[in-house]
Amino acid sequence: MTDQTTQPTRETTMKNARAALFAAIAAMSPIGAHAELTDVEKQIVAIVDANADEALTFLGEAVSINSGTMNHDGVKAVGDLFGQAFRDIGLQTEWIDQREKTDRAGHLIARQAGDRGNRVLLIGHLDTVFPKDSDFQSFSIEGDRAIGPGVSDMKGGDVVVLFALKALREAGVLDGAAIEVVFTGDEEKTGKPISEARNALIEAAGRADVALNFEGGERGAAVTGRRGSSSWILKTSGERRHSSGVFSEWVGAGAAFEMARILNEFYEELSDEEYLTFNPGVVVAGTDVKYDEAQNRGASSGKTNVVAQTAIVHGDLRFITEEQKQKARARMRKIVDKHLPKTGAEIEFVDSYPAMTPNDANAKLLGVLSEVSVDLGGEALAANDPGRRGAADISFAAPISGASLDGLGVYGSGAHGPNEDMEIPSLALATRRAAILIYRLTREDAQAF
Ligand SMILES: [Zn+2]
Repeated sequence: MTDQTTQPTRETTMKNARAALFAAIAAMSPIGAHAELTDVEKQIVAIVDANADEALTFLGEAVSINSGTMNHDGVKAVGDLFGQAFRDIGLQTEWIDQREKTDRAGHLIARQAGDRGNRVLLIGHLDTVFPKDSDFQSFSIEGDRAIGPGVSDMKGGDVVVLFALKALREAGVLDGAAIEVVFTGDEEKTGKPISEARNALIEAAGRADVALNFEGGERGAAVTGRRGSSSWILKTSGERRHSSGVFSEWVGAGAAFEMARILNEFYEELSDEEYLTFNPGVVVAGTDVKYDEAQNRGASSGKTNVVAQTAIVHGDLRFITEEQKQKARARMRKIVDKHLPKTGAEIEFVDSYPAMTPNDANAKLLGVLSEVSVDLGGEALAANDPGRRGAADISFAAPISGASLDGLGVYGSGAHGPNEDMEIPSLALATRRAAILIYRLTREDAQAF
């Protein structure tokens, strides 16, 4: 808002009154009438609903195969299951093996060439956070909930993609559409180097006008922005001397105080910027310090009467734009460079996930999805608060594809925990939405992204 005060004119007051009236009428309208769907769209919805039991059975099969990220055979087996299903509906598939390059199973790609409307990229992941020896392995149904590892994060979303395309195929409207599906095998624990691990996804995004990710959904909202994440490692050094001389000219402050100074200044100077967060997750300090970055594990020893020689802090940094990330890093470097007496410090930043920055194209795409939702008799959809979402694979596609959205998957709770579940009706709901959205985006006369 600007500080300019404007009196509402008669015209805008009238407009507001009219808008309020329309909103009131919309609120009174019966829902579930499919009032705004075309005949073809009604047919697509009918097919999704007719296939709903089959979709749930397929999800049960997928969930019953353990695919913890490091269970490479399991991830590949889930990829094979979906691969066969995509071939059954006429898509071509490819397995991008990653075992040699990043020590991960690989990614499933399914595609169909076409030139009608927008080119659409559909993203999912095959892996879960539950390792092969986890206690949580099986799929079960209790009332209207399905329970199992990865049921909502995100094998449910993968099934939404498959059965949305299947409905479009069965309705005879998929031919001619440019569709590419990328299901990664290492979303929960991404292989390194990232450039190798996400190469296939980034290339696919380069061919797409619209990227849609099917991570768990939320009522009344979709994701137009997610923060990016990165990490930093701070090492400070001090004079290893008798503690009786600490603070003196010749001994100085020591590594531990230097580390404390820096962390405190980070907090004081940067902690209230919107969407920017940074967290020192692991801290080790002392005379003898060992730290394993890959395992996030450290050990230290020292004596109370010896000034600490080394301190290491490993933390993360989350941001909503590339610019915010760069600015924060510059400010952090400046703080690091000041130094207490007789100490040294250096900080190193490592990129991980880029930000999916909210922009006009994503907002416009959300508008299209929201209209689909309303036309299906559901609610209008708003943009999710980007501060509440972690990083995800959509972030790699978002900076490249024309427009992107996330949170198109099923509704569930307890993701990553031993009671992860999915609301069963949300599987068909998300599939109907996805099918109609993809259909509208790939029509000859679709709004271009
Ligand atoms: Zn996920």
